[in-house]
Amino acid sequence: MEITKHLLMNLSLLLVLLFFTQLIIERQTKEKSRTMLQKSYFILSILTCFIFSIEAQEGIRFDLRHVPMILGSLYTGHSFLLAGVTILMRGFMGINDGFWTSAGLYIILAFLLIWIHSWFSRLSLNQRVGVSILLTLMTSFVLIELIGFVNEPINHPEAWISFLIIPALTSGLISYSIETIRQSLLIRQKLAKADKIEAVSHLSAAISHEVRNPLTTVKGFLQLLGEQSYPEEKKQEFIQIAVQELERAEEVINDYLTFARPALEKVEDIDVEKEMNQVLNVLNPLANLNGVKIKRKYSPGLKISGDRSKFQQGFINLIKNGLEAMPDGGELTVQTFNTGHVVHILVRDTGIGMTEEQMARLGEPYYTTKGQQGTGLGMMVTFSIIRAMKGKVEIKSQPGKGTTFHIRFNITNDRYKNGNPSE
Ligand code: ADP
Ligand code: MG
Repeated sequence: MEITKHLLMNLSLLLVLLFFTQLIIERQTKEKSRTMLQKSYFILSILTCFIFSIEAQEGIRFDLRHVPMILGSLYTGHSFLLAGVTILMRGFMGINDGFWTSAGLYIILAFLLIWIHSWFSRLSLNQRVGVSILLTLMTSFVLIELIGFVNEPINHPEAWISFLIIPALTSGLISYSIETIRQSLLIRQKLAKADKIEAVSHLSAAISHEVRNPLTTVKGFLQLLGEQSYPEEKKQEFIQIAVQELERAEEVINDYLTFARPALEKVEDIDVEKEMNQVLNVLNPLANLNGVKIKRKYSPGLKISGDRSKFQQGFINLIKNGLEAMPDGGELTVQTFNTGHVVHILVRDTGIGMTEEQMARLGEPYYTTKGQQGTGLGMMVTFSIIRAMKGKVEIKSQPGKGTTFHIRFNITNDRYKNGNPSE
């Protein structure tokens, strides 16, 4: 049973090795490094087989070295390299008749494999697995015959059986795994492509809708203004509508650009109070329009790190929603404080609130309950910015009562930088 056990151990080592190589290959984006890693896998497998080979009879060592040699040649096409490695390793075990025989065999095998390599790659998945098994079985047979011929004949029935079956089994398992892995990689690439195409078509739909429409309106008004002379009042009205439309288009473009590049461009210290005030200033006209009272409860001097303009944009989108949720007035509270290393920012409104279902969809692109007025991009952008700044968001909302956004960031005030706060 020793031989079977050893060969089975060879088998499991090759599979484990395949598993780990695959994990590393998955992370590679360059085709070149993938092929390099694949080649290395087969070379390493050959070495492993040599290290864990078993002496079946005096001077006769059994292992699965021909399996990675055959599979490697079939899948990567580097049969001479792999044959070279195999022969070299065999050389370390002594140059004798056995060495020359196996060198001869591997060279012939290398020629044969390079010859069928391109035919092999055109086969179907199942055919490739079948050919791998068959070739391994034939090589095992020739090997064991040759060994018997050079040394004394193998009289171990177990050696015969396990040396024919286990390599074929290993070959089948490995080539089946390689095929499955390739298949799933292909599927993933197709999915990624489909995703990209979908994103582009959404984008073009959004641009035609959100940007072209306002532009058409503005163009119309400008033409009207150019063609006739209107009373001053009417002119002012046209101009106001045109500016509003342009602002909307600008907002959509801003959101798209921020979302397309969520990585922070500049990382600097952000003074939370200062930036929040800036955000509230921008939104002040909207708050007045809706009759919303803004309450600020700041804990002074809190700092976090990130991109200032993105931080502003994220909170403009978030607080704007709060204001829009209170068309008939209400109260919007912005509160900041820290607990240890964490800066908390709370934005609370007393608006229409959201149902569970609405909360679950929040941040989904194009999800809006505002009909023509909404873009459904605001929260998606806010979430992507907070994520890029390594922040966490928690949302509580009750229909008819209001909504609270609770955001946590890491503090970067000097006294927190090294070790514990010295309060
Ligand atoms: P938009 O504001 O263009 O609709 P957003 O992504 O900013 O898109 O918001 C998506 C949806 O989430 C809104 O249409 C609204 O239904 C809901 N929402 C977001 N914030 C609030 C809030 N503070 N109160 C109530 N509903 C909200
Ligand atoms: Mg919004």
